[in-house]
Amino acid sequence: MSYANDVLQHVIERNPGEPEFHQAAREVLESLAPLVDKNPVYHKNGILERIVEPDRAIMFRVPWIDDSGHIKVNKGYRVQFNNAIGPYKGGLRLHPSVNLGILKFLGFEQIFKNSLTGLPIGGAKGGSDFDPKGKSDTEVMSFCQSFMTELYRYVGKDMDVPAGDIGVGAREIGFMFGQYKRITGLYEGFITGKGLPYGGSLARKEATGYGLVYLMEELLASKGMDFQDKRVVVSGSGNVAIYAHEKATQLGGKVVAMCDSNGWIYDEEGVDLDAVKQIKEVERKRIKEYLNYRPKAEYHEDGSIWDVPCDIALPSATQNELCAEYAKVLIKNGVVAVGEGANMPCTHGAVAAFQSAGVMFVPGKAANAGGVATSALEMTQNSMRLSWTFAEVDQKLKQIMINILRNTSTTAEKYGFKGNFVAGANIAGFMKVADAMLAHGLV
Ligand code: NDP
Repeated sequence: MSYANDVLQHVIERNPGEPEFHQAAREVLESLAPLVDKNPVYHKNGILERIVEPDRAIMFRVPWIDDSGHIKVNKGYRVQFNNAIGPYKGGLRLHPSVNLGILKFLGFEQIFKNSLTGLPIGGAKGGSDFDPKGKSDTEVMSFCQSFMTELYRYVGKDMDVPAGDIGVGAREIGFMFGQYKRITGLYEGFITGKGLPYGGSLARKEATGYGLVYLMEELLASKGMDFQDKRVVVSGSGNVAIYAHEKATQLGGKVVAMCDSNGWIYDEEGVDLDAVKQIKEVERKRIKEYLNYRPKAEYHEDGSIWDVPCDIALPSATQNELCAEYAKVLIKNGVVAVGEGANMPCTHGAVAAFQSAGVMFVPGKAANAGGVATSALEMTQNSMRLSWTFAEVDQKLKQIMINILRNTSTTAEKYGFKGNFVAGANIAGFMKVADAMLAHGLV
């Protein structure tokens, strides 16, 4: 058995009940097999055994009080996976599905994604099974303050810098920043995605969605294509999806479908983004409200958003939302390119189907790296105590995404995986981290 395969079997045996983590580890280790077989130094130094084990995983109780005076208790987590190339960095997710296995998958992916940005940031992820949906602002504040009362011990601008993710937007980051400042007395950029008046970066809110589309634009250009008049389906209607829609539309594309976890909308005229922003960013309501703005559009709770024919698919909701069966429908309907806005939204079977059908497919660790890259630019601005303009940040973001695509593509070709962006991203992301680990000795 090859070294990479051997380590994968150990991951599966030693981390029972964590299917998403197994899935992420399998994808990375399968890509790395040829590289590590050719370079025994990685095996000799146990790099794979070490990279699949988090540096530490912190779990804690988060007690808070609801509006009726009842005490509630949630689980809080921070998985600090690897800091070989910089301080830990990765978002906080607040969603009832959160558990240790999901955060390990996300933290593991984050190591390679952060490395691909070319910036000095390590990999981590955290969060809680708390559901902010349907909670009042006071309840969310009570939870965030309690969460940070424990987490503050483990984070800091040079140690571990969290950010937003599903369920964590400007409101939650503001409450967490306030509590950290109150407890520590420090005014520092220990978290990114901050509001503009207190250290946030222009273009951070837009960065993941814009970055995704910049990367796909570069990919299409490599085949003599562009977004002009292309039909685009973007799943989700959260931070990533909204700004992917915005940039794709600016480039001439037409986004015809979006969704939330209850259902999906189809608008042949092109989904009205102002309406989606009003429903999701302002009113925090369900996507079905869209029919109040565009009565001729359709809303469905059955079927799948992936039944909608499109040229470009940008799955931007959550993990494993697009399975092999949906991939086959997309292929039959003529999809030419798929870019993962979310983390691991396509199952292993879906990725294989796209690749064997010749559909251009870019995995999340490359395609959605614009968010964390811009978070790192926020850290830089905080350290400099300066703020760049929107245009400066946006231009740096675009260049980073172009570099990621080129690096991924040339690495894939160099190691015999021409056109396979999954393998290219895994190998390119791994090499920088592994070489830093070799330099640091056995730690
Ligand atoms: P948000 O919470 O802002 O939005 C998530 C969206 O996905 C919501 O519209 C949500 O609907 C929908 N959704 C969640 N689960 C499902 C489901 N099972 N089926 C259909 N729709 C669903 O999160 P983000 O936009 O920030 O994150 C989306 C993805 O992108 C995640 O995988 C995240 O890890 C990844 N990501 C985010 C980055 C960022 O900067 N924000 C950076 C890199 C990756 P509902 O409201 O009903 O729950």
